[in-house]
Amino acid sequence: MIISELKPLFPEEYTDGGPLVIAGPCSAESETQVLDAAHALMNEGIRIFRAGVWKPRTKPGGFEGMGTPALEWLAEAKRQTGMLISTEVASARHLADAIDAGIDAVWIGARTSANPFAVQEIADFLVQLPAHRRDMLAVMVKNPVNTDLELWIGAIERIYGAGVRRIGAIHRGFSSYGEHVYRNMPEWRIPIEIHRRLPEITMICDPSHIGGRRDLIAPLALQALRMNFDGLIIECHCNPESALSDSGQQITPSALGNIIKSIANRPETLSQEILADLRRQIDDIDDRLMDILAQRMAVAREIGRLKQENNMPVVQPKRYNSLINDRVETAAKLGLDAEFTKKILAGIHEESVRQQLNL
Ligand code: PEP
Ligand code: MN
Repeated sequence: MIISELKPLFPEEYTDGGPLVIAGPCSAESETQVLDAAHALMNEGIRIFRAGVWKPRTKPGGFEGMGTPALEWLAEAKRQTGMLISTEVASARHLADAIDAGIDAVWIGARTSANPFAVQEIADFLVQLPAHRRDMLAVMVKNPVNTDLELWIGAIERIYGAGVRRIGAIHRGFSSYGEHVYRNMPEWRIPIEIHRRLPEITMICDPSHIGGRRDLIAPLALQALRMNFDGLIIECHCNPESALSDSGQQITPSALGNIIKSIANRPETLSQEILADLRRQIDDIDDRLMDILAQRMAVAREIGRLKQENNMPVVQPKRYNSLINDRVETAAKLGLDAEFTKKILAGIHEESVRQQLNL
């Protein structure tokens, strides 16, 4: 599906003078908490408010959100501050209630965007809305929890297919097994590829759910803007320690204000000339890499011919393991990451085997 002729995600007056910033608590907990956060954020210059009303929890018993009645608190925040309001929807019923409450924007969460049935149900609701109501609504699609680029694009296509033209993609990182610095791995190549494939889409980064920790919000936000994201969605709470969900990653409105100021003042260190020169160096290094890879494949084919003549198996796990260990050690001395080295070698080895089998 070709996605084109999109409209700006939000009217210009809500985003001008800097990157687009959506901020607010992970969850709407009470009317006072919502209104306090909204006023504090408005004072920091934020024009688009977020708050989750239905919370997808990993296990039962967690705080599952205040549900439909909380939408009224968001509507009140809009009346009092003039901010646009947004929330997460996971079903047609959620969307219907949010629309009734006058919502300006919704996002489809990471667990929902991974489920084509759920996204289609939301799309089926969107398509039957009166055209003027659909035209006003911004719909943002978070990346699915797993690193499946096509699934993310498919969810965006379903929303586009329903006639929505204000569409954003939110990068919130990807689940992975084990303990890591990040709560969800950024895997930046995936949002970069989304942007390449869907150049008109508004790209928003969610450093809160990627980082999962307050101290990672600022560096991730800066990195996203350096990588040409159009905007940020950041979880803010007036008293983060007491938040009922995602307490460790929420920051205060004034901390957000400081981050925005530091982003605006960041020195432009890379002049175009330095950049052009570095790019030439990269081009040159890549040419040499390709040349070396071609040489390596030629040798691998030669080995393959010998194995064939001597009836030896193509894959020899012992040899492969010792090769990997040697290379990882060499690479470590050169300052290369072990996981990265293993990934590259696995790809090269796979191709050598393929070529040897094809002889
Ligand atoms: C959220 O934005 O509060 C949320 C639940 O996000 P995600 O779907 O990215 O986990
Ligand atoms: Mn959250």
